Amino acid sequence: GDIADGLSRGVESIGSTVSGAFFEPVIRLGVTGLSRAGKTVFITSLVANLLDRARMPQLAAAAEGRILTAYLQPQPDDTVPRFDFETHLAALTAPQPRWPESTRAVSQLRLSLRVRPAGLLAGIQGPRTVHLDIVDYPGEWLLDLELLDLSYADWAAKALQRAEGRSQAAAYMALAREVDGDAKFEEPQARTLADAYAAYLQTAREDGYSDCTPGRFLLPGEMAGSPALTFAPIPKPQGRKRGSLWREMERRYDAYTARIVKPFFRDHFSRIDRQIVLVDALGAIHAGPAALDDLRRAMTDILSAFRPGRNAWLSRLLLGKRVEKILFAATKADHLHHLQHPRLTHIMEALVRDAKDRADFAGAQTESMAIAALRATVEETLNHGGRSLDCVRGTLLDGRQAAFYPGDLPEDPQRLLGPAREGAETWLDEDYAIMNFSPAALRLKPGEGPPHIRLDRAAQFLFGDRL
Ligand code: GDP
Repeated sequence: GDIADGLSRGVESIGSTVSGAFFEPVIRLGVTGLSRAGKTVFITSLVANLLDRARMPQLAAAAEGRILTAYLQPQPDDTVPRFDFETHLAALTAPQPRWPESTRAVSQLRLSLRVRPAGLLAGIQGPRTVHLDIVDYPGEWLLDLELLDLSYADWAAKALQRAEGRSQAAAYMALAREVDGDAKFEEPQARTLADAYAAYLQTAREDGYSDCTPGRFLLPGEMAGSPALTFAPIPKPQGRKRGSLWREMERRYDAYTARIVKPFFRDHFSRIDRQIVLVDALGAIHAGPAALDDLRRAMTDILSAFRPGRNAWLSRLLLGKRVEKILFAATKADHLHHLQHPRLTHIMEALVRDAKDRADFAGAQTESMAIAALRATVEETLNHGGRSLDCVRGTLLDGRQAAFYPGDLPEDPQRLLGPAREGAETWLDEDYAIMNFSPAALRLKPGEGPPHIRLDRAAQFLFGDRL
């Protein structure tokens, strides 16, 4: 099966390259990040700003006036849910704007651009159509790649060890310690364990932990309640008898990897050309050192999915195809005055460098950036007891409008990430906790997309070279 999968994929990708090179090129842009990182807002604002390009000066083709038109089209993949752009944009641009519903599963959108070629070709060639296929998928699903290399016994040992150190897992660990894996399998017990394990992962995520597998336990989609999602790590028993709880847990884990994890990598991940990884670095910094360490581990795991040769099964599937560019974007930069943006970028660079050292992924070109896909604030400098504070002003979810000072980020990222970090618990401790902004009410002029910070630079890095 695996080899056949790889071969048919190979034939298909050759097919699309041939037609792509001579007719209408297709760029498959993957958008990922852990839940609440900002994927939905990013895609909505990117598409709106590509449809109306007045705010995209850093996207060369837009600045040069070479994008003649941009329009949405039915995507080529008939069985993948469509990214619900119109509903999300309507939420963000309503008279009383709301944040859209977040990503729960994979979805896709095709934006087509009529582009006049650059430079000398402009005189010879007419405009051509470039399709941007945007694929939105939860970053949690990438963390599951590791499961393909682990047997149930290995994964369970690792997961239990990780849970041991997390207070959020106390209730689950109490259950797991009592379990006898040799006992006869009973569905209600499996259900109880799986529910308790999922509840722990959920709380751990809310408390800022990133490394929470299996990824589908957080975002089950239509698989919720199926046997392949009703398992949990339990301590290894002596006997591992037929018909025992352990044996059934093992079987379900294998079903999860074969029927859920592999199809995602085969059908979606393996076809991506360019990738943006959105990271709520500010959230993790605010949550404290444990959450930041965890984010760092998750980044390493996410990056390793892009490393050629990382996994034998995936390498066969990819047949040498690789993601050409990866952008790591720290999101929600509108929480900070722009004077602090370079510091946020440096922190992002340090996180990526760290992950790169451990999971070298030759080939892909990478960059780090601080962005806000939808700018919800304006800047304001206040005088506070003789000290001048660089604030941002915005509307909170409860409707109050005020200026906030989130606290300062360190100049040197090592003061947050290095071995000798000082006061790491207290970075971004000032107003950050209450800065739950709602999107700003927009009065857009014709041709204007929603306001953003560096969305155009992100677009230039990701696909500007292909326009
Ligand atoms: P997803 O789970 O990755 O799809 O995350 P969303 O795109 O739904 O974003 C999660 C939340 O983060 C939103 O509901 C907003 O509260 C916040 N958010 C996302 N992007 C921005 C941004 O550019 N600026 C601000 N201020 N908040 C953002």
